[in-house]
Amino acid sequence: MSDYIVFGKPDIQEAEIAEVIDSLRSCWLGTGPKVQRFESDFAKYKGMPEGSVAALNSCTAALHLSLLAAGVGFGDEVITTGLTFCATVNSIVNTGATPVLVDVSLPHYNIDPTLIRESISDSTKAIVVVHYAGVACEMTEIKRLCDEFDLVLIEDCAHAIEGYYKDTPLGLVGDYSCFSFYATKNITTGEGGMIYSRNPDSLERIKTLSLHGMSADAWGRFSDDGYNHYYVAEPGFKYNMMDLQAAVGIHQLARIEHAWKKRKECYEFYQSELTDLPIELPRHHEHDSRISYHLFPVLIEDGARIGRDQLMLQLHERGIGTGVHYQSIMSQPYYRSRFRGIYNTPIADDFGERTISLPFSASLSESERMRVVLSLRELLD
Ligand SMILES: *Cc1c(COP(=O)(O)O)cnc(C)c1O
Repeated sequence: MSDYIVFGKPDIQEAEIAEVIDSLRSCWLGTGPKVQRFESDFAKYKGMPEGSVAALNSCTAALHLSLLAAGVGFGDEVITTGLTFCATVNSIVNTGATPVLVDVSLPHYNIDPTLIRESISDSTKAIVVVHYAGVACEMTEIKRLCDEFDLVLIEDCAHAIEGYYKDTPLGLVGDYSCFSFYATKNITTGEGGMIYSRNPDSLERIKTLSLHGMSADAWGRFSDDGYNHYYVAEPGFKYNMMDLQAAVGIHQLARIEHAWKKRKECYEFYQSELTDLPIELPRHHEHDSRISYHLFPVLIEDGARIGRDQLMLQLHERGIGTGVHYQSIMSQPYYRSRFRGIYNTPIADDFGERTISLPFSASLSESERMRVVLSLRELLD
């Protein structure tokens, strides 16, 4: 169906296409000058110091490297939210550390700072917060806990490039922050991510770890000065971003505020058109910091005519793609079997069973938004 509304469809324009062609013609496909430019543009946009960020091939890689740079490993515990994409928690498990899952609180479904305090033990090394849907966590309280117990603070900003906590851009409150440029995120490079480190020495180590643990990237090695030997400082990973990806990201970033405005308009449209249905609407506008408007998650009320999965199927049959962000971490088989009876996240579990994310992206037209509203009225009213 050609008029199918694809969930999270990216907004790709001629500028991105031309830049990718330019990369192909230049023969710089791997990590090169466009990655450097994307890093520098991104740092400027975020108000981060030049040289404090590194572009990677995903936010998952950024999470993994931030944990390793923070010294997290076997025997450590890392506190995080029970309502997030699995990558947040998988990254913790993949360092050898134990994730400690904490429930969320209303109205924003972010990690509950009161429950964090109860979960801190002698083994706790770090806290990974997720600014769910682009709404800032309660960073004053969380930062205070990190200072009190000497914990590393990592921000999973996969939803939150444009957001703020009071006057501070998200990602600049913690010690490390991780951004995603996956196809459905606020800006995209197809696959891609960015890591910020407050400590410049850590960033150097992260850059080394992102490319096999080698001392210089290909751009440094095969330069006009001739060949330079590389040195393996430690066994690293293959997490670098390609110029082909940065070529897309540079132009996505140039339009980031325009896309943000379009999603904000869409948020306001849904808020005004979806009243009086048996669904709970997000309450992002009740937050006092700038929102990134990444998702529009609604909760199906218990008395509704149809359940969540049925509603998704019916919308699909009407040419509307939706998503679920997220089923709780504790509802996933691996985590359920490992941590059942150890962690309880009833609010996240309930949210995960009833939530549906409506189409919500800068590429969504007014008539498409209207189609979503009319279909929901038809199915739920
Ligand atoms: C998308 C997402 C990630 C992973 O991002 P990738 O770039 O796909 O690795 C991590 N955390 C959250 C909250 C996400 O939404």
